[in-house]
Amino acid sequence: MAEFKTDIEIARAAKKKPIQEVGAKIGIPTEHLLPYGHDKAKISAEFIANARKNKDGKLILVTAINPTPAGEGKTTTTVGLGDGLNRIGKKAIVCIREASLGPNFGVKGGAAGGGYAQVVPMEDMNLHFTGDFHAITTAHNLLSALIDNHIYWGNELGIDTRRVVWRRVMDMNDRALRQINCSLGGVANGFPREAGFDITVASEVMAILCLATDLKDLEKRLGDIIVAYRRDKTAVYARDLKADGAMAVLLKDAVQPNLVQTLENNPAFVHGGPFANIAHGCNSVVATTTALKLADYVVTEAGFGADLGAEKFFDIKCRKAGLKPAAAVIVATVRAMKMNGGVKKEELGKENVEAVKKGCANLGRHIENVKQFGVPVVVAMNHFVSDTDAEIAAMKDYVASMGAEAILCKHWAKGSAGIEELAHKVVQLAESGASQFSPLYPDEMKLFDKIDTIVKRIYRGSEAIADKSVRDQLHAWEQAGYGHLPVCMAKTQYSFSTDPNLRGAPVDHVVPVREVRLAAGAGFIVAICGEIMTMPGLPRAPSSEKIFLNEQGQIEGLF
Ligand code: ADP
Ligand code: MG
Repeated sequence: MAEFKTDIEIARAAKKKPIQEVGAKIGIPTEHLLPYGHDKAKISAEFIANARKNKDGKLILVTAINPTPAGEGKTTTTVGLGDGLNRIGKKAIVCIREASLGPNFGVKGGAAGGGYAQVVPMEDMNLHFTGDFHAITTAHNLLSALIDNHIYWGNELGIDTRRVVWRRVMDMNDRALRQINCSLGGVANGFPREAGFDITVASEVMAILCLATDLKDLEKRLGDIIVAYRRDKTAVYARDLKADGAMAVLLKDAVQPNLVQTLENNPAFVHGGPFANIAHGCNSVVATTTALKLADYVVTEAGFGADLGAEKFFDIKCRKAGLKPAAAVIVATVRAMKMNGGVKKEELGKENVEAVKKGCANLGRHIENVKQFGVPVVVAMNHFVSDTDAEIAAMKDYVASMGAEAILCKHWAKGSAGIEELAHKVVQLAESGASQFSPLYPDEMKLFDKIDTIVKRIYRGSEAIADKSVRDQLHAWEQAGYGHLPVCMAKTQYSFSTDPNLRGAPVDHVVPVREVRLAAGAGFIVAICGEIMTMPGLPRAPSSEKIFLNEQGQIEGLF
């Protein structure tokens, strides 16, 4: 078998264009690009405001089956499809999320795509990039500091120190900080209380930055954040601490989208990166809506499988930002079908057509689900060298029997030349006018009914269940004027059920809602079903052990 280059080797050999040339392709004049070095730039607020009058291009969502350890390649396919559309003569922009440092040094690897479908400079993108995550971390922690400071100076607002819900964040996987005691060490250090850290991508500030329409909207949402409760259970807001103004100042540059390029010198907006479990998991509304004003096609990705990622993309992001996706691409692989069909990871190299057929049920369910939103769908089979013709044919037949088409894509190995057929199909679907997008539930529906609707229609469970305390809490929020908010489901990404080991397409399972949280600034209710980690840990052998600078001063081992 031929030797394959690693992602970082391919990225290092990229023939990058100056970022001004990339901007010019989509009509952004040099004076509206705020360069960070030669190959990254932020887009000015003034340019974005002026572009609002342009017509919108077509929005294409890239989503996937439930993730398996075999890997699906959503970002790789998002980037590949962007290049593919440009190759067939369309003006297309890719919109993806920024990378979190925690997973980079842990297990996950990068967030810039892979093979010959990558965004560059991938080293920067996977490290400090343009400093957005630093700004978000700092804005978040300013608010944390202001809370303890307020308590220290007499607690005029009457914050119940046992009910402070605003934690601290850092962009690292560090389980030691999940739960801590703070303000220890005597009178001068304040009032001791229990506290803890989340990873930056789990911060509500991140979700706010990604849903805000502009700086003004951002500031208002920051003020709406609930930081704590009083003994009478009334909420204390960030606004009460006069934190919103300074937080917005810290985020002034972070809210502007970042322009970079693909290996084929096509434009990519890389902006924001909310967790896909306790938040909505897509790139920023500002980046997506601006891209739509500048291109015929905008290809964007939602985190995890379609049951979580696409549902939240449709029900939270599209609903709130008034976006109407024209088509969706579901990424699936022969390997993942085999794993869903019961094959172990070590055995994936061997042909097993029966297992492919058996595992297709998971894909079928996602096809049906995306169609429920009125969005036409095509399946991208992300080709791995181990796939056999018989396995590919079995998958194609299955998808055809579900009333959709599966197209073999070789963008990882060949770049845009390997994904032309998918690009043509996406254009055909988008231009057919077939999309009748509408969210799954109306704003007016009761909060618990929204959860139950998702459980029944997307997860195909029998019902959502919850203790009286959870239902009472939802009811109280409805009384307080939060009843119109969408729900953000926090559930394992590995299964339609709450059991990560239950693969395939289970039915009639019960989905217990353990806890609900109100993200009043971001504008959604989080429904927690099962264990959800907001501060990940590192594995026994973290990938940081393999990351170093080589003799030439180049980064090795980022993936
Ligand atoms: P996701 O966005 O679904 O998490 P990525 O697109 O980031 O997945 O891909 C994860 C990893 O899998 C990357 O390192 C990428 O190089 C690799 N990968 C993606 N597609 C293929 C493929 N067709 N063959 C081999 N490796 C691939
Ligand atoms: Mg990805």
